[in-house]
Amino acid sequence: MRCLSVLLAAVLLDGAGTSAFAVKRKPHHARSTSVHAHTRSHQTGRTRARRAALEAKEEPASATIPEVSLKHAKMLLLPPLKGSRESLVRQNQRSEADGLERIEDDDQLSELRTQHALVAVPVSMSLRVNTELPANRRYCRPWTGRFLSDLARVHYARFHRPLQVNSAVRTVAYQRRLIEVNGNAAPADGDVASPHLTGAAIDIAKKGLSISEVAWMRAYLLPLQNAGKLDVEEEFYQSCFHITVYKSYAPPTQPKLTPHEHGNKSALIAAGVQ
Ligand SMILES: [Zn+2]
Repeated sequence: MRCLSVLLAAVLLDGAGTSAFAVKRKPHHARSTSVHAHTRSHQTGRTRARRAALEAKEEPASATIPEVSLKHAKMLLLPPLKGSRESLVRQNQRSEADGLERIEDDDQLSELRTQHALVAVPVSMSLRVNTELPANRRYCRPWTGRFLSDLARVHYARFHRPLQVNSAVRTVAYQRRLIEVNGNAAPADGDVASPHLTGAAIDIAKKGLSISEVAWMRAYLLPLQNAGKLDVEEEFYQSCFHITVYKSYAPPTQPKLTPHEHGNKSALIAAGVQ
């Protein structure tokens, strides 16, 4: 595990490694120029002036290489997965491309449950739901459910603690009421509407997670986001990982690309997090 961590750091910190190398070389470079300056002390003033001009040109080049210490580079590995307007627009567009409608009210929500277009949040020893979440909103899209199972399973294997879902599907009617009491709530319509309205998004509570667990979550989620399987926004007001999962995470027509494999690949990378 330690080796993997080192390997991961070596791969991801390639740029920082180059800088460290440059920093190491810098004293050597400085020493060699001073030797040159010493042995050629008999040079004419004109030669010295030309050499000084060359050295003056050379110095800023090495000075521009950022000196990233390993301590800071390690932190660069795990930045918060911040949301943005672009991300929210993308979450709406991707969910629309997945053929999802915004769920208007409890009646439509019930109908989608009956059709199995919405499935229960897969509660287990490794995944629990906030007890304040109403029973009919403990549902999500099937691929979001698969993602939750994968995430919770590998998180539990590593930390022996359950994750908690704070929010899952919402209706437009509920979101409108939410906006009245929470100024931070996303709109119920438009291009930046709350992705919870389709059932594809869930919020995982960050409160109670250790620094290691938060770092692990970022390392687990980032490759999946980069692969276009989901989008993550770390919300600080509600202190959660808001995650919108796309149908491509568990495409029904491609059984070989199982979410299990996605989960394992991400778990492998996240395993390198100390
Ligand atoms: Zn959310």
